[in-house]
Amino acid sequence: MSSKAGVTERGAISLGRYVACDAFDEGRPLRIVTHAHSDHMLGLRQSLMRCESLVMTPATKDLIDVLMGPLFLMIGNVKSLDYGEPLGFKEETLELHYADHILGTAQVLVKDAEGTRILYTSDFRIRDTPVIEADVVVIEATYGNPTRVRKFDDNIEDVFVSLVEAGLKQGSVFVFSYHGKLQETMQILHEAGVRVPFVMPEKVFHVSKICERYGMRLGRFLLSTSEQGKAVLDDGGPCVAFYHIGSRKRVGEGAFCVCVSGWEFGSACRQIGEKEYVLALSDHSDFNGLLRYVEESKPKLVITDNFRAGDAQVLAQEIQKRLGIRSLSLPY
Ligand SMILES: [Zn+2]
Repeated sequence: MSSKAGVTERGAISLGRYVACDAFDEGRPLRIVTHAHSDHMLGLRQSLMRCESLVMTPATKDLIDVLMGPLFLMIGNVKSLDYGEPLGFKEETLELHYADHILGTAQVLVKDAEGTRILYTSDFRIRDTPVIEADVVVIEATYGNPTRVRKFDDNIEDVFVSLVEAGLKQGSVFVFSYHGKLQETMQILHEAGVRVPFVMPEKVFHVSKICERYGMRLGRFLLSTSEQGKAVLDDGGPCVAFYHIGSRKRVGEGAFCVCVSGWEFGSACRQIGEKEYVLALSDHSDFNGLLRYVEESKPKLVITDNFRAGDAQVLAQEIQKRLGIRSLSLPY
């Protein structure tokens, strides 16, 4: 069983004989990109040049076109695969399944010649992620420590909306987060009836356009470099500006700022400066969610991803101890 899946030193999740997910792996002809976050697009150029095909959902392909430029994926053989659509490769079959994370995220299921079901969850939030039954499960371990449990019951969406509304009374509000999650925050505000202009730089704008094309409802949004966008920003609002977390030190100085982060467990919202807040909105499962996935998937073996940030070793120990399922973290 343990030879049927693994995680390499370079972060590739290997499933069955041919598939490598989320990093390049020499000798594996199929490269899967589970979603468009940078720690899941490792060695992408190498894969494009050397793999037989790259497989991803249509939404992930569109997002990569925006994030890396429209020519980037054209150097390789890219295949868009819808959720639930089987793809045969020699004696194995591959399927992508929905995961509640950013737009386009997929869990990957490989069925090998012996009928073994081998699954990689990718990043997921348990709330709306269907659990896939499998014999071997490779699971993310971001919040793999038992201390990583959200104890507060507050509805984060409501907390967020109230916070932004309070900020708007003083002028513009800046929201900082990652691609995908930024659009989730836009959708929350739009659905709550916040109708001030949403302003954003180019990449965030184009990612938002794609999210909209796939059915997210984000309201009306403006490029920060457009005439209208500049005018609202220069006037100091009221508007909500959405920026990637990497721009935190460059924009929004002195303005009302909300950093949206998963690494918050004590309270839904925390004030860290005069007009600066951290909001606990995560697109990952907490420890209990990870455990629940494993329990419902009923695997014989679990491998926790010890390459990406998280607590893979502790998670493997806890799964073994609490659920009695053989577990190990890889790479060692
Ligand atoms: Zn992710």
